[in-house]
Amino acid sequence: QDYHQKMSKSRSGILSAFGDLMSRFQTVDEEYFEELEDILIMADVGVTTVTELTDELRREVQRSGVSDPRALNEVIVNKLYDIYNESISGSRELNMQHGQPTVILMIGVNGAGKTTTIGKLAEQFKSQGKKVLLAAGDTFRAGAIDQLAVWAQRANVDIVLGTEGGDPSAVMFDAMQKAKNGNYDVVLCDTAGRLQNKTNLMNELAKIRRIIDREYPGAPHETLLVVDATTGQNGLSQARAFTEVAPISGVVLTKLDGTAKGGIVLAIGKELGIPVKYIGLGEKITDLEPFRIENYLYGLFA
Ligand code: GDP
Repeated sequence: QDYHQKMSKSRSGILSAFGDLMSRFQTVDEEYFEELEDILIMADVGVTTVTELTDELRREVQRSGVSDPRALNEVIVNKLYDIYNESISGSRELNMQHGQPTVILMIGVNGAGKTTTIGKLAEQFKSQGKKVLLAAGDTFRAGAIDQLAVWAQRANVDIVLGTEGGDPSAVMFDAMQKAKNGNYDVVLCDTAGRLQNKTNLMNELAKIRRIIDREYPGAPHETLLVVDATTGQNGLSQARAFTEVAPISGVVLTKLDGTAKGGIVLAIGKELGIPVKYIGLGEKITDLEPFRIENYLYGLFA
C-alpha cells in the first residue's frame, strides 16, 4: 500500500493512460497497439521491450481471439514479467556471505543518490542485527566524505574516512583491515563516480577491486550501480557506460517516487541484463526497498 503510494506518480500516469485506452477501444486493433506502444515508450519502458511485448500480444490476440482490451491487461503484466526475467542474468538477491564480511562496492555518478543509498542500506543491515562498516572511498568529490559520515551517524554504524584528494585504494585497504579485526558482517564501499574520465575510473575501480580481493578472495561480492530513475534514457546510457568500466552485479534505481516514467526498470533489465536489486522511494533513511518485479508490475499496471 505504502509502496503504491510512493510510486503514485508513475502509477497514476500509466494507469490513467491505460484507463483512457480501454475506454476508447472496444476491440484491440492495430491502432490500439500503436497507442499502447506510445504509452509504454513514454513511460521509459524502452523500445526493445515494448516491441517484443506488442509483437507477442498481437500473436496472442490472433491465437486466442481475445479482443477486449480489458482482458489484455493481465496478459501485458505477465508478458512484461517474462520479458524481464528472461533478460536478466545473475541472482536477484544480494550475494550475502556467512563467516566473512559481505563487501559491497557502490558506484554511480554524482547526484544519482549513491550516498543516500549507502545510508539506507546501512540502516537496513543494522536493523537486521548486522555489524556494518562504511568505507568513504569517494575522495574526489568535495564534501563526499563528510556527507557519508553524516549517514554513518544517522544509521549508527562505523566508518573509515578517507582524505579528500587521497588514494581511494588506501581507504579500502584500511577498511578491509578494520573489517577483519572487528568482525564486521557488511562493508559498504563508496567510490567516486567520475564517468567523464572513463579510463581513470576504470583503473581506479580495478585497483580498488584488487585490494579488496587480496584481503577477501572473491570480494567484492556485489558491485551495485546507482541510477537516478528520473534521468530516463540518459540514466540508461550512463548505466551502459558503467558496464564498460566494471562488472556490475545489480542496479539500485533511485528516485522512483519522483518520476512518472517508472518503466525504466524494465529498460535496464532488458538492455543491460542486470537485475535491479533495490529501488529508492524517497529521501528518508527507510525509503529503500528490495526490488520485486511482480510487486512492481502490479503496482504500475493493475
Ligand atoms: P550522490 O551524489 O550520488 O551521493 O547523491 P546523494 O545521495 O547526495 O543524493 C542526491 C539527491 O537525491 C539528494 O537530495 C537525495 O536526498 C536525493 N535522493 C536520493 N535518493 C532518493 C530517492 O530515492 N528519492 C528521492 N525523492 N530523492 C532521493
